[in-house]
Amino acid sequence: MTRNLDASQRFLFEQADVRGESVRLGPALSELLDTQTYSHSVRRLLGEFAAAAVLISNNLKYTGRIILQARSEAALSLVMVECSSERHIRGIAQGDLSASAVDPMTLLQNGQLALTIERELGQRYQGIIALEGRSLAVSLDSYFAQSEQLGARFWLGSDGDISAGLMLQQLPAQLNDGAAREEHWSTLCVLAETTSIKELLALSPEELLFKLYHEETVKLYPPAPILFKCRCSQERSADTIALLAQSDRDEIIAELGEIALTCELCGAVYRFGQSALDKESDTRTLH
Ligand SMILES: [Zn+2]
Repeated sequence: MTRNLDASQRFLFEQADVRGESVRLGPALSELLDTQTYSHSVRRLLGEFAAAAVLISNNLKYTGRIILQARSEAALSLVMVECSSERHIRGIAQGDLSASAVDPMTLLQNGQLALTIERELGQRYQGIIALEGRSLAVSLDSYFAQSEQLGARFWLGSDGDISAGLMLQQLPAQLNDGAAREEHWSTLCVLAETTSIKELLALSPEELLFKLYHEETVKLYPPAPILFKCRCSQERSADTIALLAQSDRDEIIAELGEIALTCELCGAVYRFGQSALDKESDTRTLH
């Protein structure tokens, strides 16, 4: 069960214009989930979002990150997972964190799913789709059907400790065209449909691909490791504090002796005493 965890692996069908990616998360997902006390249902949901975020980040062609988030007025107000081009993941859920449901997606009933692609150097793109009570995988399928010219399909699963995902994506037509191309694509998708969540979680990419596609020629690329890593820092925390009014800062310092900021996404605490704050404001004045 623990083989090939915290890694994703690309693959390519050599006789079809289709590529894919398989991901399984274990310890990195636990680190992400252990920053808060989440119910089993919320852990499963965040697990699926994390697997999906990794699969989508596969499409990043530059340094940046993708942010997959859902907002709703149901039990959970927010579920968010981010995956960077370096394959660092972090995430959070907000709302009733003890909520439980047989189908965790109902905790986001009537919510909206937003996919944001953020480039390190500024550009930002966001697409939004209604969840309509569907699974995350089905929601992503229709998101890609609406926003991309080439189809993509997702299969996701999570047991609250391990999560896994499989993505197939059409490539621009080179080998096949017309009906043959669509037929091959649909065959590959139908075969993927035969995977159970249990298999998705338990099988290594090699085993999964052999089970589904032993009649196809599939090229499997080396695994790419995934880490739980937050982007917070003392410097970013100082930026947040700089947004506070001077009088508020003085009041907190007078009362508590320091300003402490806790990162919600990883639990790290950043402390600023009076001298650190003075140094900060000097630096800011100089710039
Ligand atoms: Zn953090």
